[in-house]
Amino acid sequence: MKIAVFPGSFDPITRGHESIVRRALPLFDKIIVAIGVNSDKSGYFPIEKRLEWLNETFGDLPQVSVESYNGLTVDFCTKMDASYILRGLRTSADFEFERGVAQVNLKLEADIETVFLLALPEYVMVTSSIVREVHKHGGNIDQFIPEQISI
Ligand code: ADP
Repeated sequence: MKIAVFPGSFDPITRGHESIVRRALPLFDKIIVAIGVNSDKSGYFPIEKRLEWLNETFGDLPQVSVESYNGLTVDFCTKMDASYILRGLRTSADFEFERGVAQVNLKLEADIETVFLLALPEYVMVTSSIVREVHKHGGNIDQFIPEQISI
């Protein structure tokens, strides 16, 4: 069974994230969307809310489950029997960052491959940090977040 983990902060989930998961469905038997909990930063939205929004977004997809984890992504993958890490690439800046993370992950766990999908052009500018900034200042974020949720 081909199992992938899609790790991220999802603070909050955006249409860009949703699109990566839906486009990756034909590649894997199961996708685990997982919030990596970082004890040094609490984030903007509470983890419980972020999990709820992920569950609402992917509630129609039996192949997708939602989790949170502490520690290394490769350790979480091993625990979940996942051989793939799914990531999205928007820009060359994403590529430079992701290359480093993926190469270190390969050193840590040679059997876990990272698979990248390119962002759709219409989502290249959609980032969680910009969505947080618009939300913080009272702007309407509806067009950037999945239709299934309201924040
Ligand atoms: P992290 O905090 O690990 O960067 P994010 O929640 O910001 O996590 O993103 C998780 C993954 O989703 C990353 O691989 C990121 O590149 C990808 N991603 C984020 N926004 C988009 C988007 N608009 N289109 C495609 N992929 C995206």
